[in-house]
Amino acid sequence: TDTAYLQGADAPASAALLERAREVIPGGVNSPVRAFRSVGGTPRFMVRGQGPWMWDADGTRYVDLVCSWGPMILGHADPDVLRAVIEAASSGFSFGTPTEREVLLAEELVRRIGPLDRVRLVSSGTEATMSAIRLARGFTGRSVVVKFAGCYHGHVDALLASAGSGVATFGLPDSPGVPASAAGETIVLPYNDVPAVEAVFAERGQQIAAVITEAAAGNMGVVPPAPGFTDALRRITSAHGALLISDEVMTGFRCSSTGWLGLEGIPAGGAPDLFTFGKVMGGGFPAAAFGGRADVMAMLAPEGPVYQAGTLSGNPVAAAAGLTTLQKCTDEVYARLAAVSDTLTAAVEESFTRHGIPHRIQRAGSMFSVFFREGEVVNYDDARDQHFERFGRFFHAMLRRGVHLPPSSFEAWFLSAAHDDEAVEHTVQAIAESAAEIA
Ligand code: PLP
Repeated sequence: TDTAYLQGADAPASAALLERAREVIPGGVNSPVRAFRSVGGTPRFMVRGQGPWMWDADGTRYVDLVCSWGPMILGHADPDVLRAVIEAASSGFSFGTPTEREVLLAEELVRRIGPLDRVRLVSSGTEATMSAIRLARGFTGRSVVVKFAGCYHGHVDALLASAGSGVATFGLPDSPGVPASAAGETIVLPYNDVPAVEAVFAERGQQIAAVITEAAAGNMGVVPPAPGFTDALRRITSAHGALLISDEVMTGFRCSSTGWLGLEGIPAGGAPDLFTFGKVMGGGFPAAAFGGRADVMAMLAPEGPVYQAGTLSGNPVAAAAGLTTLQKCTDEVYARLAAVSDTLTAAVEESFTRHGIPHRIQRAGSMFSVFFREGEVVNYDDARDQHFERFGRFFHAMLRRGVHLPPSSFEAWFLSAAHDDEAVEHTVQAIAESAAEIA
């Protein structure tokens, strides 16, 4: 039948693996979005990747537009990164002592990101934001954190709150297990809404440790900050002695050779106090970072009293992968990403328009996403107002044609510099046919 694919008929080996996985792993996956819940059907179990392609357990080949949700900016199994990883691993996997490779990676980060005086390496974006929040609280002696609805900063208790929009609400936990006390220290505001930030600071400015924001939002689809929004966050936080934390876990080294910072520039009034990075800087291995102002970072143990640590932090294999990836992220890489983004967005525009499918494409440098609605998307309310069912049908139409999109319409389409003409043409063709199918 039409929808047999939703039962896994088209991917029997993946379906069998999912059944086995469910016996030992909740939902059969180690990160919920991988389960395809919002689009239905069987998540594909991958066995191999090379450049822009990946192959699943049934031997089906896909153009990969997930790219591990961002990290694989050079494509799969890049030969130079592979060599660096083998070389590092050949000398031992982990020591729990300092090693030179982590110094090299930290130096590369500090060299690229002007306002980064000091940086601490961790193993995931979640750890980076969690630690940045702790540090901001330790530095300011305050407890309240402001975040924006639709911005995802990992599964940190205090940052899983995103309830409420349009008004300044106190955060309600999005997940059982997050105590009301943790979420209660979080204020959730609508993205791109300066008056809401001003109002909350006028009332509680003395209690607010930090504002954390995605440098350019990518977790509600791509929603760049409106002109002046980042400047306003800088002005308001500075005026009240709160820190500004720019989360560049997704945008860092992807939007541009630095991240969103490189496109928008340093805000009027000064750079954010702290930054978080992850994804690309780990080259597909667990490496992430937080860093910023020297006086703030000096509060961190062992220099200061704010504790933070990690058995595998600065792991030499991950550091080698991240360093080599960053070294290979040249101007040509970003030019290629921009060119492929141009081609794919033009293809969506053309095919969707031809078939009367309402759509809106938004970009932040080399990152873009497609909303299944018309009209500008400036915040989470807008992003949630789209045609999800139609996205699900489009997703599966693309998958059947060998193109693996992120299984959620709240995600960017992640590209790599290895997406060559063959992969791009394959994708353009799939877009045209899939648009016709779902019209
Ligand atoms: N911050 C942002 C902006 C992210 O996009 C993500 C992950 O998607 C995170 C933090 C959390 O990173 P991780 O999944 O490595 O914990």
